[in-house]
Parts: sequence; C-alpha cells; structure tokens
Amino acid sequence: AAASGATTPEPAAPAVSKKRVDIAAEYAQRAAHLNLVMVGHVDAGKSTLTGHLLYQAGVVDDRQMRAYHRDAAKAGKGSFSYAWVMDQNEQERARGVTIDVGVTHLTTPSGRKVTFLDAPGHRDFVPNMIGGAAQADVAVLVVDATPGQVEMGLSEGQTREHLLLVKSLGIPRIVVAVNKMDHPMVNWSRAHFERVRTLLASFMAGIGYNVESHVVFVPTSALAGENLTQRLPHGHVARAWYADQPCLLDVLDTLPIPTRPILKPLRMLVTDSTKGGMASGSVTVWGRIEQGSTQIGDSVMLMPLGQDATVRHIEVKDEAVKWAAAGDHVMVSLAGPDPQQLSAGLVLCARDAPVPVTNRVEAKILVFEPKVPITMGYPVILHQGTLNEPAKNPRVLTKGLDRAR
Ligand code: GDP
Repeated sequence: AAASGATTPEPAAPAVSKKRVDIAAEYAQRAAHLNLVMVGHVDAGKSTLTGHLLYQAGVVDDRQMRAYHRDAAKAGKGSFSYAWVMDQNEQERARGVTIDVGVTHLTTPSGRKVTFLDAPGHRDFVPNMIGGAAQADVAVLVVDATPGQVEMGLSEGQTREHLLLVKSLGIPRIVVAVNKMDHPMVNWSRAHFERVRTLLASFMAGIGYNVESHVVFVPTSALAGENLTQRLPHGHVARAWYADQPCLLDVLDTLPIPTRPILKPLRMLVTDSTKGGMASGSVTVWGRIEQGSTQIGDSVMLMPLGQDATVRHIEVKDEAVKWAAAGDHVMVSLAGPDPQQLSAGLVLCARDAPVPVTNRVEAKILVFEPKVPITMGYPVILHQGTLNEPAKNPRVLTKGLDRAR
C-alpha cells in the first residue's frame, strides 16, 4: 500500500493474522485431479486391470507384487495375482484395518492425480456408487471382449445396470477398456474390438451419451498388462490396426477435467458429526464439499436447521489445512451449533447464501427393474446427497419420457 505519511500506524497484529486466503489463486496451483470409478460385469477384469495398472504405475512395488503372486498361487488363484492387490484391500477393509490410501491413487506422467473412488474388491458396488461416487469425473467400464460376453452384459448382466447408473448419477465421461484382448478367442483381432465398440456405442447413445465426444474405447489385456501404461510395442500383433494409439494411462492423462464450481457458495454434505473438536465448545462434521470453498474464520450455516456457525479448524486427509474446496473430503470443527441437533444429511452452507429448503421435489427418475408398478402413494425413500428419508405421497406426473433400450 502507498504510504500516506510517517504517522500512519502499522496495522495491528490480529488484522494481519486474519488475512483471507485467496482460494481461487491457491486452487489454480494444485495438481490437476481426476476422480474415477471402475465399473463392469463381474469377471470382466476390473480387479486385475486396476491391480496391474497400479503396479505398472509404480504404486505397488516389486516386493509387494512378488508377495501377491506368491499368495495368489498358494491359494490356487494364480490368474488372480493382480486382482489380489485389490482383494488384499478388501480383506483389510473387512478386518477394519485402515486402507493404505496410496493404493487407490496414481500419478500420471504429466503429474495429474487419479483417484479410484470405488476400487473393485468393494462388493457393495451399487450402494457405494449412489452414496459416494456421484462426483466421479469418469467411469472406466471394463468389458470382456470374448465372444458373447458383452451381449450378455448388456442384456441381463451388470454392464447395462452400471451404465444406466453411471448415466443417472451424471458421470459425464466413460472410458471403455475392451479387455481380455489377449484371450485365444480374441487374439487382439480388430473385428472383436469393433464388435464390442459398436454394441456399446449404440447402447450408450441410446441412454444419452454423445459417444463421439464423451466416450473413448481402449483395447487392453489386464492379465498380460498390455496397453495399460505403455503403448503396444513394435512387433505386437495388433499394431497393424492400433499402432501408436493411446494406452489406458494416456487416455486418463489427457481427458478433460471438468472445472469444479469453487467460486459458487459453499455446499458441504455432512456424512457424520460429533460433539467436541479441535477448538473448545465446538462440534466436528465430516463430509464432502460439493461446491464452493471454505476457510478458517468463515461464517457458515447448517441447513435446514438454520444454525449459524464459525469454521475453526479444517482437515483434508488427516492434515490441518487453511482452506478446502469443491471435491475435497474434509473434517471441519465449528463453533456455534447445538450438538444435539447434528445429523447426517445436513448441508453446511455459506451463511450469506444458504441452500434453499423445500418439502416438495419434482424429479425425473429412471426405473431399473420394477417388480410391481409404481403408483400414487407407493412408499419410497429419497436419497439426496447423504440424506436418506422416507418420502411421502409420491405422485407420478408423466411417464415414458425416455425408455432406455
Ligand atoms: P472382476 O470381477 O471384474 O474384478 O474380474 P477379475 O479381475 O477378478 O478377473 C476375472 C478373471 O478374468 C480372472 O481369472 C482373471 O485372471 C481373468 N482376466 C482378467 N483380465 C484378463 C485379461 O486381460 N485376459 C485374460 N485372458 N484374462 C483376464
């Protein structure tokens, strides 16, 4: 600031310590981050693909991988060694051991961070997806290229259900790993790859994807580790038709990353809460910031309670931070709110722009496998963010808008 005279007093120390962080500027310095979810029919190769990708990307080291090979062979499941990487996590989860978060992150050659939001090995795929993966930027759909498998996955299999779910959750992009290209019945033949591509492209277009601009198909062998992190080498049988085209990691490294709404008013969905926290007289809430950002000292409001609070402390991945923004999973200590009224499903908002509250919603719904017809008064549960509430008096307004093929 321009000095206007020698008598101007220095600003008092507290004013300096209250200096606001320029979140937009700091956010721009952060490494680009892509959230992905792996989907696909059981046995298509999701675990093998993820495990082998993490190994080739250096996340799982040689020593660990040798141990996985050995354990898988001992259990008579040699062909599952790479899947073992993921299944180890599943067993650890089952025992309540904290998962090494490193296993579900990788860094691409350009320095982009890729997070696997719902790594395979997780058995409760669908509820997890509804509860947690709604903010995935991309779904990696793994399909089995051997004859008849994609047809099956699209008629009665999970490929169909997963794709409908991915679409209705609003995940904008899909990368299809056309897997098992090494299989003797496929033998890296272009015809098999094209057959799979045509079938899936038609289904995806039918549910509303612009295949041309938002879907990428990549042939892979998860088992042999081909076309995952390295392009097909010279002399490879498929180079006649797939020479110098991207491997899976190239695709993940170049997909456009959506701009996150960090400049909008704060919306954080509360998944959990407790009395007490890092500051006296405070409460602590956990959840994910859907839009906007927050920093220490912010005036916020818990909706729909309408309770005011002040942000006292923020942690992201167990580390104290000064600010957090859309896309971050955070823990926030708040001064002010009544601990008795805390519950999952609350939305922490900017105080000057709280989320509107309503007791009526109109929604377009996609029905998967109706066992009985949906009629007026049919009992339903509304999952809205982290909230699960029985909804009263549903009324069907119109039907048959879009029938997924
Ligand atoms: P998931 O259920 O989708 O996670 O599938 P898994 O990764 O557990 O794999 C199921 C089976 O398919 C295992 O026997 C794997 O070894 C096999 N598999 C996975 N990927 C490939 C591949 O690229 N080629 C071949 N030939 N087999 C594969």
